[in-house]
Amino acid sequence: MALPVFDLHCDALQRSLDMGHDLGGETPGHFDLAKAARGGVRAISLTAWIDGPYADEPGASKRRTNALLDAADDLFERHPDMVRRVDGAAELEALPDGVVGCLLAIEGGHAIEEDLAQLEHYAARGVRVMTLTWNNHLSWARSCQEGAPAGTPEGLSAFGREVVTRMGELGVRADLSHAAERTFYDALECEGPAPLVTHSGCKALSNHPRNVTDDQLRALAARGGVLGIPFATAFLDEEERAAEQAFRRTDAYRDAGRGGATEAHMHHGDAIQAGLGPFPIEHVVRHTLHALEIAGPAHVAIGSDFDGIDRRPAGLEDASGYPALLSALADAGVDDDTVAAVAYGNAARALA
Ligand SMILES: [Zn+2]
Repeated sequence: MALPVFDLHCDALQRSLDMGHDLGGETPGHFDLAKAARGGVRAISLTAWIDGPYADEPGASKRRTNALLDAADDLFERHPDMVRRVDGAAELEALPDGVVGCLLAIEGGHAIEEDLAQLEHYAARGVRVMTLTWNNHLSWARSCQEGAPAGTPEGLSAFGREVVTRMGELGVRADLSHAAERTFYDALECEGPAPLVTHSGCKALSNHPRNVTDDQLRALAARGGVLGIPFATAFLDEEERAAEQAFRRTDAYRDAGRGGATEAHMHHGDAIQAGLGPFPIEHVVRHTLHALEIAGPAHVAIGSDFDGIDRRPAGLEDASGYPALLSALADAGVDDDTVAAVAYGNAARALA
């Protein structure tokens, strides 16, 4: 019997919307409910990821977000016996066996187009997590990436604090993956439920802007929050990242990029996986162990970023592979209670 799993970040809704994949059955990507059943998934956060350029055209981010949320609603309507939207811990606990709980999320605060009424609209549609920034910077929040336009606040602006506070009132948790350090600390100060960092690694092990420092880990834990460890090579290991960057300059990579953006992303990921092979699962284990040591056993979870990543770990190529990670953690000396907490308990508790 696979241990129950709660994965805090998955981008599969794009494939559903852009490629017509029915996530209720077997699909070519990383996450669907068939694979999830084999992997022991009891809950998943499906994310409406809004690419940065949507922010350039008024109305485009709202349309894209609503279309992705429609794709989620369509999934729930088609497969009520397999998956249901959940708002919090109580609903999750009440689900019948075999039904996956789905926590709806938005990735990229540009989805609200600087309008609190739009945030309220998404909350009414059932969104319960919002990643404040993606890699683009907002007028009210700085992302962790370089190149912020002039006038971008160092962290959250006054309106940014209003957004986070209103999110808390609406039961929408702040996800601080992708946030600049100052944005992270500013958000921690806002009233509301404990924030999440749904898919970031540890900067002490791999110096990548998307990872968090030990001080951030301690601050997150002190606030009751949870870090989801991602499966992305790019964040987890500097040498593996360099190998991937080199592969992106090959013909094999270039030739794989057919179709629209979502399809090309999927084929590119498969080309990297075929060209370089899966990367060692030990990198995921290393980051999990470090986060457990610094943040403590109650503050670490899984945040795969499936269908948003390119190369995947060996044995953990898709959502059927979580048991391989949990065994690897046990082999690394993590006790049974902590393995279960990382797999499911910590993420579930964070929704209470
Ligand atoms: Zn992300």
